Amino acid sequence: MNIAKVIVDVPASSINQTFDYYIPDKFIDILEPGMRVIVPFGPRKIMGFVVGFVSESTFDKLKEIVDVLDITPVLTKELLELGKWVANETLSLSIIALQAMLPQVLKSTYKKELVKKTDLDLPVELEYLFAGRDIVPFEAFEQSNISYNKLQKVIQAGDVTIDYLVKSKITKKQITMVKPAKDSHLLEEALVDLSKAAKKQKQLVDFFIQKEEPIEQKRLLTILQTTTSTLKTLEEKGLIETYKQEVFRNPYNDDRFERTYPLELTDEQRGALNPIKESIEKEKHEVFLLHGVTGSGKTEVYLQAIQEVINKGKEAIVLVPEISLTPMMVRRFKGRFGSNVAVMHSALSAGEKYDEWRRIHQKEVKVVVGARSAVFAPFENLGIIIIDEEHETTYKQEDQPKYHARDVAIHRAENYNCPVILGSATPTLESYARATKNVYTLATLSKRTNDMPMPHVEIVDMRNELHVGNRTMFSRKLVEGMKERLKKNEQIVLLLNRRGYSTFVMCRDCGHVNECPHCDIALTYHKNSNRLKCHYCSYEENVPVNCPECSSDLIRYFGTGTQKVEEALTEIIPEATVIRMDVDTTRKKGSHEKILKQFAEKKADILLGTQMIAKGLDFGNVTLVGVLTADSMLHLPDFRSSEKTFQLLTQVSGRAGRHKLTGEVIVQTYTPEHYSIQLASVYNFSDFYKTEMAMRRKFRYPPYYFLALITISHENKVKVIQTSQKIVGLLMNKISQTTVVLGPTPSPIPRIKDRYRYQCMIKYRNEPQLRMYLNKIKEQFADEMRKENLLISIDMQPYHLM
Ligand code: ADP
Ligand code: ZN
Ligand code: ZN
Repeated sequence: MNIAKVIVDVPASSINQTFDYYIPDKFIDILEPGMRVIVPFGPRKIMGFVVGFVSESTFDKLKEIVDVLDITPVLTKELLELGKWVANETLSLSIIALQAMLPQVLKSTYKKELVKKTDLDLPVELEYLFAGRDIVPFEAFEQSNISYNKLQKVIQAGDVTIDYLVKSKITKKQITMVKPAKDSHLLEEALVDLSKAAKKQKQLVDFFIQKEEPIEQKRLLTILQTTTSTLKTLEEKGLIETYKQEVFRNPYNDDRFERTYPLELTDEQRGALNPIKESIEKEKHEVFLLHGVTGSGKTEVYLQAIQEVINKGKEAIVLVPEISLTPMMVRRFKGRFGSNVAVMHSALSAGEKYDEWRRIHQKEVKVVVGARSAVFAPFENLGIIIIDEEHETTYKQEDQPKYHARDVAIHRAENYNCPVILGSATPTLESYARATKNVYTLATLSKRTNDMPMPHVEIVDMRNELHVGNRTMFSRKLVEGMKERLKKNEQIVLLLNRRGYSTFVMCRDCGHVNECPHCDIALTYHKNSNRLKCHYCSYEENVPVNCPECSSDLIRYFGTGTQKVEEALTEIIPEATVIRMDVDTTRKKGSHEKILKQFAEKKADILLGTQMIAKGLDFGNVTLVGVLTADSMLHLPDFRSSEKTFQLLTQVSGRAGRHKLTGEVIVQTYTPEHYSIQLASVYNFSDFYKTEMAMRRKFRYPPYYFLALITISHENKVKVIQTSQKIVGLLMNKISQTTVVLGPTPSPIPRIKDRYRYQCMIKYRNEPQLRMYLNKIKEQFADEMRKENLLISIDMQPYHLM
């Protein structure tokens, strides 16, 4: 079989297929499915994935593979299959599905080098190639006549690795070291020769007379309070030497984590764990829904289930939402399983991510804890997949391939005959409905492990505040509560439910709002730069002095950004110190953690923030949680808005009184009678579930119906409308009677970056051919999409309905 089937890196729908290439002799023994190759494609050379081999091709005039990029496959057979499945499920291109499974480093342009990892001798040709060096460029190997087979053997033995250098940036971390270049008695002689004035130089030489070992340059400079110029001078005199040393990048230094041991489980925890253990033991695929209130010890159940999996020599994937992936979270897993844990987090650099991925790929770890894409971890002996906070919408990827990590997890677990645990205090209606129908196995943890009651929640009707003349955004009750806590040196968390709110500029005379000229959305006011910015494109402008509409100078800022709340807060309670956590203050890498650390160290009384503060925080000293605008999400054009409100209120309430001190929650709202607010305030999930299910049934939404959202966009509005109508017409011919097609209508944001947007929503119960119809429709428009820049985007499980 000397022909390879290759999926090429060309993102166009007409080429969602494999191409055949001859395999040159030198690659024939080493090439395996899942390896990346370089192939000629038209006038260009591009990357592709080998997915299989054949001995005959229906194409004529085959070209040859130019180069092989991997010595071991980057995608396993299972992942290749999974890629096909993902592409099909999400109606995306195979190449995009495959690339979604790999770290960034393997997608970009790169150089390769070979690194020798052993002190022992390699086979003689390879020793000759390395010639005493630890690292050689990959080209050196290609120019030699060593066979790929030989290289593959030493790589498989772990004696040599291939490293990728991203765009000339080194993916491995190096530090500069300094060491004495002479014996200490020679240094002593040199010391005498140094001029009296050269104090710093003398100090440095003296340092190495005392301590003859190498030291990291950065540390040396801080210890001696000196600069690199001193080092340079001494290096020129031949007294010291500097050199680069590679350090293995481990963003989470394992020594930092204190070892923890399995806890004696509560009855409820044991009740939840036992059937999971059985599923692991019997190698039987099963999905468990672990419904446990915040603080009920779900994580301990995960940890003990993973221990069971490791004992069987298998591997575990743990997914947590991006923003819960805090050092606190990592510590719980590293504390139990030490260096057996890899962490995949978007805050890691591309190189760090690659290192972690490689540790999984080379089977150096048994557990990966990570955000959404960690569901593709290249394990080959999976024993469990856990999704914590399963209700989080960030598990759905919003770019192609638009997959949901939950579906991928369940699909992989079916392949491996292993269990999946979905854990949450507020499960999605979809998952809970499946549990009530015994598609999933439900386990409930109803009590907190410390037996502390859930904090009391008080709902404050903000309309009454207006009636008594309180025009601030803080109710009297909340202000009182905050002052009380400040007196007792206790801390407060304030949540500004920011979605749907922003600071915009409006003319008080005519009501004119400044909008982005390219997108139909109000511009957001940024105080620091005093400019108006669009959050959908990069457009910005100065704040107008006069209204562009009526020339009035009564221009005012509206909305409640966190900055504004902070200002108002310091006016009302000047004695309080406030830390703000929102997109603006957490943009820099590590700033998120820094803010949390400051708050944990009690450097502030109040932590004020958006949604991101609702997750996973665990501060013993927080006794009051205030929600400023509980209903700001309720009125968004999204059928999940009640569910999201319920989830958020429950999550944030769980932040108070986690430890010895009892907590209180104050929820401010203009719609206190709404069931999601009422039921969240008494932690009544089951009534919420019933009420919301009735709504979903009535309005034909998930979990009763499936959804598919088609969005059509183009610069010409007429073209968008015409195309949308055509698409709906085509669909109507195919679909069954019970299926509903809504639209076409303008999208909630009708224009982004000068492109008009229309959408239609398909609601269906049973439409086995729908994916095929949609693919066909897309194919019909393929020419227009390519030539006229028409965009038809299909989301088979939409979460963002904007
Ligand atoms: P959840 O993930 O459900 O919010 P956690 O796993 O964070 O809950 O558990 C809350 C606290 O209870 C943690 O401090 C944890 O160490 C502790 N805990 C969990 N299980 C037990 C147990 N069986 N006995 C004592 N403490 C426990
Ligand atoms: Zn005006
Ligand atoms: Zn814009």
